[in-house]
Amino acid sequence: MITVEEAEKIILAQVTDYGAEIVPFELALGRVLAENIKADRDLPPFNRVTMDGIAVNYDAIESGISTFRIKATQAAGDPPVAIEEQNECVEIMTGAVLPASADTVIRYEDLKLRAGLATLVTNQIKRGQNIHYKGHDKKQDDIVANIGQCVSPALIGLMASVGETELRVKKMPRVVIISSGDELVDVNETPTPYQIRRSNSYTVKSVLKQHGLLADTLHIPDEPATIKKQLAICLENYDVLLLSGGVSMGKFDYIPKALNDLKVNQLFHKVKQRPGKPFWFGRHDDGKLVFAFPGNPVATFMCLHRYFLPWLQASLGINEKPPLFAVLNNRYSFHQPVKCFLQVKLHFNEYCQLMAAPVEGNGSGDFANLADTDAFIELPLERNEFKRGEVFKVWRF
Ligand code: AMP
Ligand code: MG
Repeated sequence: MITVEEAEKIILAQVTDYGAEIVPFELALGRVLAENIKADRDLPPFNRVTMDGIAVNYDAIESGISTFRIKATQAAGDPPVAIEEQNECVEIMTGAVLPASADTVIRYEDLKLRAGLATLVTNQIKRGQNIHYKGHDKKQDDIVANIGQCVSPALIGLMASVGETELRVKKMPRVVIISSGDELVDVNETPTPYQIRRSNSYTVKSVLKQHGLLADTLHIPDEPATIKKQLAICLENYDVLLLSGGVSMGKFDYIPKALNDLKVNQLFHKVKQRPGKPFWFGRHDDGKLVFAFPGNPVATFMCLHRYFLPWLQASLGINEKPPLFAVLNNRYSFHQPVKCFLQVKLHFNEYCQLMAAPVEGNGSGDFANLADTDAFIELPLERNEFKRGEVFKVWRF
């Protein structure tokens, strides 16, 4: 049986580039940029007034003038109004372009306005105040977003501001989520006392959706001929098959054999870990990948976060994020020769340290616990006793 690190290495050796496609920028949330985006003009594109008030030339203030005649009012979007006399000002609004003849903006709070005149009520004026200068944030042709960056709401706003209505993003692999098991009924059916509703596909689908990947789903029975037929169709139509169930030692666990018959080469079967020991991973000669997770909902969930998502992120060329570590909040013992992935609840303590409190649950079948926890903490294989205060890697969900 291989270790978690060996399994990870085998999977990451199968990182695949699925190319790029153009999408409308508003639909690009969660996708990964496949192009650098440049500013189409300076940001801001002109000397932008940042306060409502008046624009003046500071020389006037220096020469002792403290009352100005309001020459005109300039709203945001209006062409600039020129000041001709020293004692003139322009009443001006936030977002307006600063007239070339002015260099300073005084906010209403520092003025008294009366009968077309504006009088200073402060002597705390500085030349150049309340102006956001042209090109101060970015110059035209500066890169504002990079290849490998995830499209966030803030980035969508930035794209709008530089007029990028279409974005070149990394193509997602075509993924099908396949659940298996004759004991499982659809959520809309009424289970017999011996059946359960299937949930894995819904969980996996939601996780993928959070990562911008829309996957199809399929349920297959524990019947060898049907399994083989359905998997063959999936291998034709998808890049990645994400299975749950049917890979353990049970009499009705037909999946590994069916995959083998379909020429999907097994790259490993079984990993020294709990939950998720029977995890099976393989690759068809044509490059299609099969992640076959054990059916226990917690095992499927753990394997998805620990193996599939890092593979997906690497395949999409996402700028690598450093791994997350947390401090174990309670001592914990684990006496099995496999690596323990323990469900934890995370919080920051008063020193801003990320603390992980184990929530043990009732083994890998206890998925009710998942909704109450935040992450799996990955405890080293070589040890059995883990002390409060020790730091380990965590996989947030
Ligand atoms: P298996 O890996 O097929 O032996 O399944 C292990 C356990 O997980 C069994 O108790 C199954 O009933 C359960 N299980 C398998 N698939 C699902 C699923 N899609 N939703 C909920 N439970 C499942
Ligand atoms: Mg099963």
